[in-house]
Amino acid sequence: MNRKYRKTIIAGNWKMNKLPSEARSFVDELRALMPRTKTCDTVICAPYAIIPNLSRAIKDSRIAVGAQDVSTHDSGAYTGEVNIAMLSDLGVKYCIVGHSERRAYHGETDTDVNVKVHKLLEAGIIPIICVGESLEQRERDLTIEFVAYQVKSALYGLEPKDIKRCVIAYEPIWAIGTGKTATAEQAEEVCGAIRAVIRSMFDARVARAVSILYGGSMNAKNCDELLAQPDIDGGLIGGASLKTADFARIITGTVSAPPVLPELNREEGRGE
Ligand code: PEP
Repeated sequence: MNRKYRKTIIAGNWKMNKLPSEARSFVDELRALMPRTKTCDTVICAPYAIIPNLSRAIKDSRIAVGAQDVSTHDSGAYTGEVNIAMLSDLGVKYCIVGHSERRAYHGETDTDVNVKVHKLLEAGIIPIICVGESLEQRERDLTIEFVAYQVKSALYGLEPKDIKRCVIAYEPIWAIGTGKTATAEQAEEVCGAIRAVIRSMFDARVARAVSILYGGSMNAKNCDELLAQPDIDGGLIGGASLKTADFARIITGTVSAPPVLPELNREEGRGE
């Protein structure tokens, strides 16, 4: 983490879990367990049907509401889809795009991701852009190349001021929901490479302002080591975000973030 240049973000991804009627009690319990002082931005990305109740429940709290996807279309005859205007109207602040489950089960393409990123930013919603390799790609040593392509494609056509508002989540597919977490070194290597890609597309100032999260079986036990890495600015958390105690423990993990190091002591760009 590096609080001097960018936000620390802990975002839960509830996926297709929980009920609208459970939102209030979850938020009340979580608020009671959260650290007293703000150490990170806390987000819950909920299914569409839960968002209205969640938006009411988080009112006057330090928690923001996120969605898990959005349509590429603005309005019209797209049965079953939800557009950005609807999310804005419900007070949604963040939206996941390109989650590997959307890519795998719903055919979301890199072009779709790029369109969604542009439209979300225009509407003032922060995209959480998911990228990550399969096990096969990792074993064939294609991780960095593949993730770099996904990042370049997602950010294509954006201005530097827009890039700074984007959040990237590195989520190795083989670590999602499997209980297999990337080691802190593996996660840091790819998050650092993502920052280097952004630096090559723009410059060091832009790159150091982007929050890069790790996602993939992050939990109350392994979060501290992951969050201590210089290029990991938080987490996108699936399973462990469903339990208030576990989610609160991960949020608390951001309290013990390493101190901000003086700019000149760091290797150019790395961790900045
Ligand atoms: C996710 O789906 O974004 C995720 C990281 O899930 P889990 O934490 O359960 O691996």
